Amino acid sequence: MSDELVVVAIDGPAGSGKSTVGRRLASSLGLDYLDTGAMYRSVTFAVLAHGIDPEDEDKVAEVARRMTIEFGPSGAVIVDGVDATTEIRGPEVSRSVSVVASNAAVRSELVSRQREWATRRGGGVLEGRDIGTVVFPDADLKVYLTADPAIRAGRRAREVTDLAYDEVAADLARRDAIDSQRQHDPLRKADGAIIVDTSALSIDDVVDLLIKQLRPDDGEH
Ligand code: C5P
Repeated sequence: MSDELVVVAIDGPAGSGKSTVGRRLASSLGLDYLDTGAMYRSVTFAVLAHGIDPEDEDKVAEVARRMTIEFGPSGAVIVDGVDATTEIRGPEVSRSVSVVASNAAVRSELVSRQREWATRRGGGVLEGRDIGTVVFPDADLKVYLTADPAIRAGRRAREVTDLAYDEVAADLARRDAIDSQRQHDPLRKADGAIIVDTSALSIDDVVDLLIKQLRPDDGEH
């Protein structure tokens, strides 16, 4: 990456620890943090709010181009001026988000917003499915987080209170399949990314490991 831009790209399936690790790593490094999954969820929320069929590629793309997505303090997500922090994590949005994220025009709109976001603040920690492969292939550090599917589903089930473990596990398996098999920018490990299996690691372990990767000289004196 250029001297001015410090970018950490974190990719991986749902429940692999991207958000928790990404937030902690950003705060340790003094960088801003961007949850790009929240952006795909926001488009899906707006599409459903307008009564548009998530499979209608042209109409969905138009919504994505016109809408505003803002991140408030303490993680609030504001969609077209309305606080949608809770709704974007709900089951309706989770059910349709992978279809919306398969739309090439939606991806190209959001990728350009993500690049602009990082460029404006001199870099950042970005997490999603295509950060190291598409958004910032020259990132200073590229990470592919993964974990055992049952552990990932267990983590998500603890976050959502209105769904049973089996429903969460089924939703995750379905999204994993669509996200890794789709035509445009599927989830895969980026060239040069380090793979970290978080199944048996604490968040602090993962964050420490990533800081050592980024700054190998620290702590040697
Ligand atoms: O990270 P999260 O699970 O909230 O992401 C929701 C969905 O958004 C994913 O299942 C995927 O379909 C899509 N996504 C994507 N590319 C990203 C981030 C998320 O396709 N960079």
